[in-house]
Amino acid sequence: MSRFWSPLVHDLKPYVPGEQPRIEGLVKLNTNESPFGPSPRAMAAISAAANEALRLYPDPQALALRETLAAYHGVSPAQVFVGNGSDEVLAHAFAALLKHEAPLLFPDISYSFYPVYCRLFGIEHVTVPLDATLAIDPADYRRPAGAIILPNPNAPTGVALSRAQIAGLLAEHPDIPVVIDEAYVDFGGESAIPLIADHPNLLVVQTMSKSRGLAGLRVGYAIGDVALIEALVRVKDSFNSYPLGRPAQAGAIASVEDEAFFQAGRAAVIATRERMTQGLVELGFEVLPSAANFVFARRPGHEGAALTAALRERAVLVRHFAGPRTADYLRISVGTEPQVDRLLSALAEIVGEG
Ligand SMILES: *Cc1c(COP(=O)(O)O)cnc(C)c1O
Repeated sequence: MSRFWSPLVHDLKPYVPGEQPRIEGLVKLNTNESPFGPSPRAMAAISAAANEALRLYPDPQALALRETLAAYHGVSPAQVFVGNGSDEVLAHAFAALLKHEAPLLFPDISYSFYPVYCRLFGIEHVTVPLDATLAIDPADYRRPAGAIILPNPNAPTGVALSRAQIAGLLAEHPDIPVVIDEAYVDFGGESAIPLIADHPNLLVVQTMSKSRGLAGLRVGYAIGDVALIEALVRVKDSFNSYPLGRPAQAGAIASVEDEAFFQAGRAAVIATRERMTQGLVELGFEVLPSAANFVFARRPGHEGAALTAALRERAVLVRHFAGPRTADYLRISVGTEPQVDRLLSALAEIVGEG
């Protein structure tokens, strides 16, 4: 607190990112990073971009990257917006598209950055409870709304809506912006990108941080109708014209071009997720059906906070969210096979089945 602060700052409630501690031999399953890292081709492109040209500003429009993403997703470059991580893309979407007279709707259990942006940008919002199975029911969004944002698959539950369900939601809300945050879509979800052609109110946001192992590079993007993209560009160019440096643009392009590495990585995560789920069920956990690179699981008779602390003592980090409907659960990222073995043996010890 300081008298030098702008009044706005007093009222902010900043997002708390998962910790990045230095613990020897740590099994880090708390921030949904990729266990495999980036494509070797992306790393080579990043190194190659670290040259004398760094003297010059990067392309403010990141046209080469937008062309690569457009070709990959079957849209035009004018339908693609890129930013410094999808968090920045989302921030611009909140400012550019989601502030209206009627409230913004999003699920009560969802990405905890959404209420943070609402405060920062002064956006009135209403949270819509997940159903009894902790899934999103699109029918619950039939209420006055200025805009809607949902992660699909949802975070931190991992539960996905089908593309048909998203199409149903769009059919019911043709006159307001709908943003689908697809940070985890590559692990078993169905992207809404094919719906963009028929829905000028749909913005789909994706990231290179999870399925492409590039959380440290900070590249995210949005795809939608050109008018929505134009709104994002107007906000971006009122904030930071150069959100992506030269190495980030080069590395992101090379990552998209390495389809074989991408496919192998996501297939491995999905296979390990299924084995991890099986192992958790054998230890008495209830595991929500996940289409993401993490699972949301609880063990009756054990509090989430206590389990998290006991795992931490064994150098296994998972994420816990306080709150009435989430406090029992652990959100556990899918790691490598040996990391999952460490997780399961630590949990066996803790719940007394070891
Ligand atoms: C991780 C995540 C993001 C943001 O990722 P970036 O690293 O900023 O691209 C956005 N939405 C959800 C739901 C996430 O879990």
